Amino acid sequence: MTYLFNTDRGQDLGGALIVHKNRDHQGLSCTGAKGENVIVTNWSELHDCYGSAEQIPALLAQASNTPDASAPIWDELWGRLCHQGTAYEASYAALPILARMAAAMPLTIGQPALLLAAGILLSGSQPELEADARRRYASELAALRDVNERLLALDQNATDFLYTLWALAALDGHWAWAAQMDSLVCDEIEGVECPVCKDTFDLVREGDLGERVAFKDAIRGLAVTPASEADLDGVCARLYALASEHGQAGVAAGLLALGGTVTCPLCGAAFAVAHAW
Ligand SMILES: [Zn+2]
Repeated sequence: MTYLFNTDRGQDLGGALIVHKNRDHQGLSCTGAKGENVIVTNWSELHDCYGSAEQIPALLAQASNTPDASAPIWDELWGRLCHQGTAYEASYAALPILARMAAAMPLTIGQPALLLAAGILLSGSQPELEADARRRYASELAALRDVNERLLALDQNATDFLYTLWALAALDGHWAWAAQMDSLVCDEIEGVECPVCKDTFDLVREGDLGERVAFKDAIRGLAVTPASEADLDGVCARLYALASEHGQAGVAAGLLALGGTVTCPLCGAAFAVAHAW
């Protein structure tokens, strides 16, 4: 599958494809000059945060030559395509292009194309568009996962590794677990809701990420009881296995806390931390 970057200019990140223009369709599939499938996107008919998305192709083209995540062009793209966590039509249309950019860019921690794609998929603001994009761009998202898995293997500190896990959880649609990866980075799990009294409290981390009982409730200071490795299942078990496999002991310990149990400081009920999300 090939994607035309901008039908008006006939651009393509991969170069040199020419297909007929069609201004009446979004995401139109057609056959290119070499017999391949081509998706044509009418960007001027899509919207980003600020209105018409007609500038998006040029911005993506500029960003494709800018692997530095701190460069202003990436701030511009985040502002237009994932503004404060909100995604737009153009955001999902950009996903296959971001996937190609991620595959072509140097394999570095904090790779900006991957992170922006993950942010868009984590948005949750356009569930129908997201579901459609996940179906339409399944192979591109698989390629993004491949980039992500190779990033996990790089030598990195716990915070960078957590952000790589965050992207992985986002790509796979595990938005709640992605949010918890962010919590581990931020040293605080906010708004834990007790399933019995329905009140909420925060968990704060005292000490390093790798300390066994680092997370405590912010009211009485009762420590979270970490899960044992054998207790983990589902997404948590997979994330834990990845952290262990890549020598990230602190992250693995943090995941045991997320998979563990906590006592409500307000009513005394014990429940699984993961129950709260
Ligand atoms: Zn309670």
